[in-house]
Amino acid sequence: MTLDSRLRDVETRLAAACARAGRKREDLTVIAVTKYVKTETASAAVRAGVRHIGENRWPDARDKWEALKGQAVFHYIGTLQTNKVKDVVGRFDYIHSLDRISLAEAIHKKAQALGIVVPCLIQVNVSGEESKHGLSPEQVPDLIRQLKPLAAVKPVGLMTMAPFDDEPERTRPVFRGLRELRDELNRAALAEAPLTELSMGMSNDFEVAVEEGATWVRLGTVLVGKEDLGAH
Ligand SMILES: *Cc1c(COP(=O)(O)O)cnc(C)c1O
Repeated sequence: MTLDSRLRDVETRLAAACARAGRKREDLTVIAVTKYVKTETASAAVRAGVRHIGENRWPDARDKWEALKGQAVFHYIGTLQTNKVKDVVGRFDYIHSLDRISLAEAIHKKAQALGIVVPCLIQVNVSGEESKHGLSPEQVPDLIRQLKPLAAVKPVGLMTMAPFDDEPERTRPVFRGLRELRDELNRAALAEAPLTELSMGMSNDFEVAVEEGATWVRLGTVLVGKEDLGAH
């Protein structure tokens, strides 16, 4: 499949999922996850209209960031070690993997030094699967309270990954759970501002996530494909 046909195909599927859920397509943003493809492919995607790029390691993202900064919004979606914060803050526009106060403190410190505020999503392990990162839903209110003094870290929403399932329909409770958690947190008004974003849905399960209210889907393989990148 060519890049253009992939982009068109995903667009058709997104439109159908939005229609099924009675949602507007413009309330949903696609993040093209480029970790499996070369810089040329990421650039071609941007030329074809992609405006958001997701990556999960700075060393792998560096080339693409150098080539495309200013032309796309960059999302850091991978696990973030505290000692890598200096590489990420100031380069990525959003961090989707905030999962502990020590990480928030490191982001705050670096962001303050740069005079910026970093919008962050709190990563939640809704399914409870052991291999998945993120806080349990019960732990999220405490983290939000602890974020209050950190003015340079702005919580804007929640992120989750569903366990891979051959039957995407079975991931629905995970996505519904994240939406319900966001709505509960907003009712409790713990954050300075309502949490608006739900970052959920990947190649295998994005249509279900859209039906359950995703505002950002993170699409790698299905959107930009997968290439042999060799050792790096
Ligand atoms: C790799 C990755 C994606 C995209 O994966 P695909 O299944 O190829 O769409 C999305 N989110 C996160 C956090 C990832 O690491």
